[in-house]
Amino acid sequence: MKITFLGTGTSQGIPIIGSEHPVCLSEDKRDKRLRVSVLIEWDDHIYVVDCGPDFRYQMLRAKCKRIDGIIFTHEHSDHVLGFDDIRPFYFRQGDIPIYAHKRVVKELKKRFDYIFETENKYPGAPTVTVNKIKNKPFKLHGLEVVPISGKHDNLQVFGFRFHDFAYLTDMKTVKDKEIQKLKNLKVLVVNALRLEPHRSHFNLEEALLFIAKVNPEKAYLTHISHLLGFHKEVEKKLPENVFLAYDELQITI
Ligand SMILES: [Zn+2]
Repeated sequence: MKITFLGTGTSQGIPIIGSEHPVCLSEDKRDKRLRVSVLIEWDDHIYVVDCGPDFRYQMLRAKCKRIDGIIFTHEHSDHVLGFDDIRPFYFRQGDIPIYAHKRVVKELKKRFDYIFETENKYPGAPTVTVNKIKNKPFKLHGLEVVPISGKHDNLQVFGFRFHDFAYLTDMKTVKDKEIQKLKNLKVLVVNALRLEPHRSHFNLEEALLFIAKVNPEKAYLTHISHLLGFHKEVEKKLPENVFLAYDELQITI
């Protein structure tokens, strides 16, 4: 299984428009973070988790020519705003499968009503096949995907386990029952926003506590704000099996 980090930044991305914060001005490539998303590939299958406002550029940058589907964690703008840009995939492949909680589907229908239109649909609009997911395992080409439910402030959010790999973003609280689903992971990806606490995201300390509880072989941090600091400096302070993810990082599991 190959994972490509398409984006590792929080909702505004790094740099933030107009910001003169030193991290936003950093020339280290690893301090430039598009909105959070990953590409997951195994055999000849390829799925993307979330499609935020940077989706088009992320697909171009990763030279991604085809997707088998999109799996959504939740409906916040930084995770869904690129939905219209599935058009090139739709024109070439036909209906694009999406996987999301029914609440997320409802929200997508509200924001992208023309995509779900069934009568007199605009010919340039893409069409999707909706797969509603509940908090129970589902299969993608024979691979079991286990949803991990958590809370992002008051909003329910799904993370996903694929074999020995799990991807969790925008978590603030995860119940022990859900953490049980994360045993024996080779790689865990989890969000770590900044140093100070935040009402809807793990800060670094909470992310490290969560990683210690899950105890994966390795962990990568994502959904990072400029307030976490410079990549080069933060990484030095992390436990030896914990790393900061950065855009375009690829890992093979
Ligand atoms: Zn987010």
